[in-house]
Amino acid sequence: MLSYQHGYHAGNAADVHKHVVLGVLLERLRAKAKPFCVLDVHAGRAVYDLTGDQARKTGEFEHGIARLMAMDAQAARALPAPLSALREMVRTMNPQGGFKRYPGSPELARAALRADDRLVVNELHPAECAALVRWSKADARVSVHQRDALEAATALVPPKIRRGLLLIDPPYEVKDDYRAVPAAAVAAARKWPEGIVMVWYPVLPDGRQAPLIEDFERTAPAGALISQLDFGRAAGSTGVIGSGVAIIHPPWQADADIATAGEALARLLRRERPGRHRLRQIGNKAAAAS
Ligand code: SAM
Repeated sequence: MLSYQHGYHAGNAADVHKHVVLGVLLERLRAKAKPFCVLDVHAGRAVYDLTGDQARKTGEFEHGIARLMAMDAQAARALPAPLSALREMVRTMNPQGGFKRYPGSPELARAALRADDRLVVNELHPAECAALVRWSKADARVSVHQRDALEAATALVPPKIRRGLLLIDPPYEVKDDYRAVPAAAVAAARKWPEGIVMVWYPVLPDGRQAPLIEDFERTAPAGALISQLDFGRAAGSTGVIGSGVAIIHPPWQADADIATAGEALARLLRRERPGRHRLRQIGNKAAAAS
């Protein structure tokens, strides 16, 4: 299929939510000296041009990263650390000012790597994969695959470096993904008990995401989390109205950082009415024991 291209959506409110949560998890991995490995199986092209045709056509970034970058310095000082970190990352990538260049998940992960950490990125779309290969060439810590993401998600775990994170971030072009994604994530987590498994999903007005959430609630091991951000869209809005992230094997105390960051995001990214962030524990004890 592969008609989806993330360039149309880069830097939107869902990306900002996902990338802030990813930042929290990467910081937790960096908190210990032991090396870690990040597997990003729906990687996209790593860096996006928000002045390009795709991003300008939808303008979605105006309701996302543009809000974070538009804050004045004094207001920005009061931001929770994970939001400040994303803002600083974008400032560093744009020394001339503005936010023309926006980091995708591979660039955020690569920025977190230390000398012995590793990043494995995977992307099936030929043009996106070619961009990833060019982007990764100068960095021996990064390897690139071009295979089906859900197959890779279970085949590539556990990596040799046993601490780490698996990111599953599909476009959900196929309705079956709402069942296939939680199944693949839980299977990968079983094979990789030390690994953090992070899954992004869209919140849609017709509730298409419900089977994915139900499956996580039923089959994820105890302690798993769901961070869900409601953008505060007006009644009757079409398209994505919120963003969700499920985390299996979340690191210790990541929940507090995600809760604080999520509340700040709900205020920052609100649309026609106040937004809302909800963080909750899911998963069942029986699944943890099996
Ligand atoms: N993770 C990226 C980020 O946060 O910057 C965005 C990824 S985007 C939502 C999803 C990506 O998955 C697209 O680049 C798309 O080409 C790729 N993709 C879609 N189906 C795939 C599949 N079956 N296997 C691997 N990649 C796939």
